[in-house]
Amino acid sequence: MRAIRKAMAGTESVQERLDDFVAAISKAMQVKVASIYLLRDGEGLELSATKGLKKSAVHKTRMKPGEGLVGHVALTARPLNLADAPSHPLFSYRPETGEDRFKSFLGVPILRGGRTLGVLVAQSEKARSFNEEEVEDLLTVAMVLAEIIIDDERLGGKKGALKGISLAPIKPETITGKAYADGLVEGHAYLHVPPVAPSNLLSDNIAAEEIRLEDGVAKLRASVDALVAGETAALSRASKEIYETYRMFAYDRKWVGRLREAVHSGLTAEAAVERVRNEHRARLMKSRDSYLRARLHDLEDLANRLLRALSGEALGLGNKNISDDAIIFAREIGPAELLDYDREKIRGIVLEEGSSSSHTSIICRAIGIPLIGRAEGVLDKIEIGDPVLVDGEEGEVHIRPLETQVAGFKMRMNIRGEINRAYDAMKFTPAVTLDGQQVSLQLNAGLLVDLPQLDQAGADGIGLFRTEFQFMVSEFMPRLKEQTELYRKAIDAGGQRPVTFRTLDLGGDKILPYIDPVPEENPAIGWRAIRIALDRPGLMRYQLRALVAAGAGRHLRVMFPMVTIVDEFIEARALFDREIARAQKLGLELPKKIEIGVMLETPSLAWQINAVCDHADFISVGANDLMQFFFAADRDNARVSDRYDPLHPAAISIMKFVADGCARNGKDVSVCGSIAGRPLEAITLVALGYTSLSMPVTGIGPVKAAILKLDAAKLRKKIAPHITVDSRLSSLREIVREFCMEEGIPV
Ligand code: PEP
Ligand code: MG
Repeated sequence: MRAIRKAMAGTESVQERLDDFVAAISKAMQVKVASIYLLRDGEGLELSATKGLKKSAVHKTRMKPGEGLVGHVALTARPLNLADAPSHPLFSYRPETGEDRFKSFLGVPILRGGRTLGVLVAQSEKARSFNEEEVEDLLTVAMVLAEIIIDDERLGGKKGALKGISLAPIKPETITGKAYADGLVEGHAYLHVPPVAPSNLLSDNIAAEEIRLEDGVAKLRASVDALVAGETAALSRASKEIYETYRMFAYDRKWVGRLREAVHSGLTAEAAVERVRNEHRARLMKSRDSYLRARLHDLEDLANRLLRALSGEALGLGNKNISDDAIIFAREIGPAELLDYDREKIRGIVLEEGSSSSHTSIICRAIGIPLIGRAEGVLDKIEIGDPVLVDGEEGEVHIRPLETQVAGFKMRMNIRGEINRAYDAMKFTPAVTLDGQQVSLQLNAGLLVDLPQLDQAGADGIGLFRTEFQFMVSEFMPRLKEQTELYRKAIDAGGQRPVTFRTLDLGGDKILPYIDPVPEENPAIGWRAIRIALDRPGLMRYQLRALVAAGAGRHLRVMFPMVTIVDEFIEARALFDREIARAQKLGLELPKKIEIGVMLETPSLAWQINAVCDHADFISVGANDLMQFFFAADRDNARVSDRYDPLHPAAISIMKFVADGCARNGKDVSVCGSIAGRPLEAITLVALGYTSLSMPVTGIGPVKAAILKLDAAKLRKKIAPHITVDSRLSSLREIVREFCMEEGIPV
């Protein structure tokens, strides 16, 4: 360790340091050969420094990950300890190095942040296997080595000396994912689960470090126990199950045993945490098992907590000290975690996972923060503070972009800015088609943060207020008073404009942190929404009570989700009537006007259109779910969610069937799924006869711009021949697009 510290303190070039390193290792371990192989982009592992092999092979000998013993260590990210290396089936002889004389082989991966940077090898002539302590020591050295090289690069070190090998991610990278919330932004990377770099790696007081480690582990365990017991539940909203898993790991004897061993080898407690974390990461990231890969997240979080405990920080919510232009990178982020951040500072979000209809995506669309999901492997390529461009139009993330990329991107941002200013200028213009049809453009909302958007976007009301959001982002079940307050504020924000509340739509992917989910094979078609409400009416009656109270003296509009047969609606409406009767009996002020509607989200309800119109005051087509059930394609499953076009003649036919049915019965109908917020789909809906659309705030400007240029009768005529069971088309998209080109409709 002393020799290594000396090498670390040196001020020579990286190459010289590496040479010092291998010399120090060879001397300390009394081995003939010590070599460093570093991973060169695309070209495999390259012998970069050696003591004992032929110097002429340095920067010449290369092998692919997986090739030979060194390649095997890189691929598996595990040490390999062999007494008789040449007899190993993977041994590949490289004459230029002269290594055939050496019998024993110890190779350890050089790991940093889950990435394998290279392999450190010790070899001796005698056939002997290295003892456990030697393996530990070499692992420690490998870690120190990784930090030295990366540090040097970050400081703009003499990279030339390493013949162009660069180990820190410094190249520009473009990662393609899926755009779940639109927008173009520029900013700097922030890691939602920030890695804590051990500032001081080596210690000469092992006993003191052991005490620090034990102390840190004890604090960590206490904090995790408290989380499970719910004592600090107010600090965190993650579900109990997650913390149960944390606790399992926190008490895992193997994990703590590995930490102790690492401290014993001369590392500080922090460095020990980092090293064990690196080993886990490298191993789990290669796992094909998605459950195991997901556990990595828990281990990472635990390691971060332990590092924070070691630094004397109180364990609680993460450090939210972010820059003013933060792009948050995470594996996955829940709606509550998202709202913990200062909204003003978040420019964009990039997730390795995520899905289009997850609530995080819905919230991002609502508050206008671009979100890229399914950006695979992005966390390996990013470091805190990296400049980033988030392209929420193309679903791309540019990390450390080139100047030319930035220039092109800024141009697009400017154009977008101009378009947005144009939308802004139309804010007070009603959305009327060229042939005189007025269309009401309303907002999808659910949280307090959404309400100012009503005026900002010039929306005509709230067409869908997703009441479950308040329940999902709360640590505890919102009380009657809290529910009433939120609903009252929403009605206030609406002013003269209508606000339509949708009663709790729980189940499926919408799970409350404080209620144990009921495991189901097919949650999307399981016990959810109105089905729960009718079986266990307590919760809904409570909510209806809050709605009646909030609507006192006002116009109250309520609708029920996921109704499948008319009887369900009748039953739900009766529950509402009971709340009205109760308020009356108590002498409370009643709403001035009441409208009770139904969401049409199941194909079965379309075929009861006349019956449902007999009972409901209005219909709102939840096209997200309607299309999911119509096409039997899970809206949350990326493999199938975009497989079928909602402009397929079959889908258009059912939409027309519903619009015609409502018109026949003289009932107001609107569409509130995400198709209502896309200009091409929206004008098609208008052509079908829909005159009320509810959408995320980002849809209002573009949809209005398209409607202002639309001759609805003309489009109706154009698509009419295809809305029949005789149609052989798989989509009307091209026909509508062509129409827009001819008519100069911006879509
Ligand atoms: C829908 O299903 O279209 C809808 C608007 O409701 P949600 O997206 O909340 O399920
Ligand atoms: Mg729905």
